[in-house]
Amino acid sequence: MLQSINPYSSQKVYEVREYDEQQINEAIDRADERYRSWKKVSFPERKKLMLEAARELRKNKEEYATAITEEMGKPITQSLAEVEKCAWVCEYYAAHAEKQLSDKSIETEAYQSYVSYEPIGVVLAVMPWNFPFWQVFRFAAPALMAGNTGLLKHASNVMKSAGLIEEVFRRAGFPDGCFTNLPISSKKVEHIIENDKVKAVTLTGSEMAGRAVAAAAGSRIKKTVLELGGSNALVVFDDCNLEETVRTCVQARFQNAGQSCIAGKRLLLQAAIAEKFTEKFVEAVRNLETGDPMDKDTYLGTLAREDLAEDLEKQLQESVEKGAEIRTGGKRDKAFFEPTVVVNVTEEMPVFKEETFGPLMAITVFDTEEEAIALVNKSRYGLGVSVFTESLERARSLVPEFDDGAVFVNELVKSDPRLPFGGTKSSGYGRELSVDGIREFVNKKTVYIH
Ligand code: NAP
Repeated sequence: MLQSINPYSSQKVYEVREYDEQQINEAIDRADERYRSWKKVSFPERKKLMLEAARELRKNKEEYATAITEEMGKPITQSLAEVEKCAWVCEYYAAHAEKQLSDKSIETEAYQSYVSYEPIGVVLAVMPWNFPFWQVFRFAAPALMAGNTGLLKHASNVMKSAGLIEEVFRRAGFPDGCFTNLPISSKKVEHIIENDKVKAVTLTGSEMAGRAVAAAAGSRIKKTVLELGGSNALVVFDDCNLEETVRTCVQARFQNAGQSCIAGKRLLLQAAIAEKFTEKFVEAVRNLETGDPMDKDTYLGTLAREDLAEDLEKQLQESVEKGAEIRTGGKRDKAFFEPTVVVNVTEEMPVFKEETFGPLMAITVFDTEEEAIALVNKSRYGLGVSVFTESLERARSLVPEFDDGAVFVNELVKSDPRLPFGGTKSSGYGRELSVDGIREFVNKKTVYIH
């Protein structure tokens, strides 16, 4: 049995029996069979269904948001925003997929030469619990619009959300087998990858899961896209707009209780403003509304599971032993972790060199641009970096210096259907969203007519 436990109330929310091997194989067969007809369905028809999925999401958003909040503790207003964003990505690909996948003509000495973008078949998506709807929809909308069919292996603690997502597509009128939820634990993932009918895998999750899935897929020459962990830096220069930057940095770290791959986890402050900025930042963090995630005023609920809060506690303790100083927070009660700010953070501390998946900001001070660049790039991760400065010239000149997959200036790193999203180094490879995302799981077929 796979179970979800409400991390705020400790009550069981949902329970589902795991699929056995036969049920899994039958689902793969159905997805493969459906692919053969689905790939022939016209773009206007696919578009109609995808717009219907967006409508379903908006119509039932209270129901979906409640499931998210109950299963993983995200405050309800943030869950509602997550469902809205899913509707947006459906609408985005409904509007743009046909053009994004239209033939690309390339002039050669041939009578005609071009690239056509064709679907590849069944794609497996292994997904995390932190944005239980969004992570899935940002895969499913482009995959289905491209003519592929999708299988979902969702995180074990959000199986109710997983079932509801399958229902969104069913209610929208997608034919059976276009999108299938597989209630299974991670042990069965390799078995699915081994199946010849499964052509590719996308995984959003931890580095460890990414390694396991990429190794299994690699040994069978199957393509993967990996969206893994991150330890984004927020680089604050002394010429920034202080008030606005404080606000943005608080949001960058504390929304979703800090459980986001692209959260700003390391705050790098230029020495001249470090103390003043820290004071204002700490004050803003102390004012965050904590409490029942179902309450509309709550900004920060619990973490998704108690063990995740324990992991964060260990990272904090070890960092404190190495000299980090807690300015606010630092205490844990079951799955609740106080919003926390630590200063005097150095490169050897877990809160700097590891990913911290919770409401904890690690502050390090720098003097020069060169020091800031070195600190940003020290991380094994490379998802994104935010730079705060009033000098656009400085910001532009810094962009090529960072190893990351994204640089945001005077803004937190966020995903947007119109922009490619993905990382470098241990944050993974490949891109989701935008035209780049929809072209990850297609056969870029070269056509040459003499
Ligand atoms: P996780 O433990 O890696 O789980 C992610 C998914 O992988 C789950 O469905 C999990 O299934 C499955 N899984 C775990 N180990 C596996 C294995 N050995 N083989 C096959 N599948 C396996 O990650 P999480 O705790 O849910 O999510 C947090 C992590 O995801 C963080 O590191 C975060 O930064 C990252 N993340 C990255 C992005 C991005 O876009 N880059 C976005 C969100 C989150 P079970 O639940 O059954 O174990």
